[in-house]
Amino acid sequence: MEKIRVVEIFDSIEGEGGLIGYPTTFIRLEGCNLRCVWCDTKYSYDTDKYQLLSLDEILDKVKSFKNKKVCLTGGEPLYNEGFDVLFKTLLEEGYFLIVETNGTVFRSVIKDLWEPYKDSIYIVCSPKPFSNFFVNERLIPFIKEVKFVVDEVLRKQDILNVISKFENLPQLTFQPESNRQDMFEKARKLQKELLEKGFEFRLIPQVHEIFNLP
Ligand code: SF4
Repeated sequence: MEKIRVVEIFDSIEGEGGLIGYPTTFIRLEGCNLRCVWCDTKYSYDTDKYQLLSLDEILDKVKSFKNKKVCLTGGEPLYNEGFDVLFKTLLEEGYFLIVETNGTVFRSVIKDLWEPYKDSIYIVCSPKPFSNFFVNERLIPFIKEVKFVVDEVLRKQDILNVISKFENLPQLTFQPESNRQDMFEKARKLQKELLEKGFEFRLIPQVHEIFNLP
């Protein structure tokens, strides 16, 4: 079996979104199809610092941390060719899988394994202005949370365009960029305006930034 390009595997707490605070093992896969200007994980692409790890090597490391939740992140994890085998194996091993994606890429392994494992899969989509907030239509039925990073360019219409594509609304989250106070205030204003239209957003900071966690 081919080895998987992995930038890092580490033990922390989920620092963002609806599962914030849970003890979680993070597997950061190499590569991303976007180049967002405020990306805080640029080291996950444009790098030759990744390791080529076998599935067994990854599993050994994941098991050493004892966490019930594993987050596949990046970069863009769905852009990494190792995603399918990792996704399947971790589900079969009984882990709860969080997938953090920019929403542009779909992999059919998600659809194939959805029925038996849907309670153990939590796909968080964070659409990016750098892809015009594009969300792959085939991924939409499997997304359980949509998280908007509230930065200077995010507009209410961008948000409405994205959520109008969902038949059943997932959890809706605002995350102020880099925990900036001015972006918190913008998010709070958007939260109130969208509530008037019937959409309830949670406004959540990045906890790992506050506590200096990886
Ligand atoms: S999609 Fe995510 S990992 Fe990729 S460049 Fe944008 S912020 Fe960075």
